[in-house]
Amino acid sequence: GGPAVPGPTPPADDRRADDRGADVIALHHASKTYPGGLTALDRASLTIREGELVAIVGPSGSGKSTLLNLMGTLDRPSSGHVEVLGHDVAALSDRRLSAVRARWIGFVFQQFFLSPHLTALDNVANGLLYHGIGHSRRRDRAAEALERVGLGKRLDHRPHELSGGERQRTAIARAVVSRPRIVLADEPTGALDSASGAAVVQLLRDLNAQGTTIAVITHDPQLAGSLPRRVSILDGRIRHDSMAGTAA
Ligand code: ADP
Ligand code: MG
Repeated sequence: GGPAVPGPTPPADDRRADDRGADVIALHHASKTYPGGLTALDRASLTIREGELVAIVGPSGSGKSTLLNLMGTLDRPSSGHVEVLGHDVAALSDRRLSAVRARWIGFVFQQFFLSPHLTALDNVANGLLYHGIGHSRRRDRAAEALERVGLGKRLDHRPHELSGGERQRTAIARAVVSRPRIVLADEPTGALDSASGAAVVQLLRDLNAQGTTIAVITHDPQLAGSLPRRVSILDGRIRHDSMAGTAA
């Protein structure tokens, strides 16, 4: 196989701000130009260290999702470099990149993307497909993950039988059932009322406190302001990073 992927590290609360973990995501002058010629991301440089909880903020169309997709290896840059967990994305085949992504990165989206005909349990268990884990163990792990997001009594409910907040918590359980090192959330509270949104944010905080590195795109200034680091984007360029200049 290729480069070794580092194993789990101690929880974030074992570290001080000046003693943060290794880089888990690094973009170096990464640009993305879509077919048609629009440059949605323009020479973005950004480093995220293990254990961080980062808000990505900016107006609609500013390039936030494009940035998150590069960070999550869902897309490749048109120019510049992206490194995720020590892998130079350009050096990996699509197949190898998918394997790294499936093992180490969990995604949460505004629209949940749950399978409508599957129960919460089966939706979450599907987060363990291709992990070499048998069916009954997948269901056990899924039940545990749903317990952890407060949905232990909703295992057999289908998405239409869940509230918006419960659907998003199910999606979070699916994202983390494989114990990823990185969770990337694209407007996870965008479709929720404020109380459900607050519960989702609290879940992300809890995950982060247990050691998961998290980046969350948000439109909500209150949410962004409550997170330890904010990266703002305008017109495809990173304009401000509240962590930049901090001694590492
Ligand atoms: P945000 O998430 O901040 O709203 P996006 O990263 O989704 O912004 O989009 C940035 C710009 O890139 C927008 O102008 C958008 O229309 C364009 N864009 C996004 N995805 C594509 C795509 N797949 N093909 C062409 N243009 C795209
Ligand atoms: Mg977006």
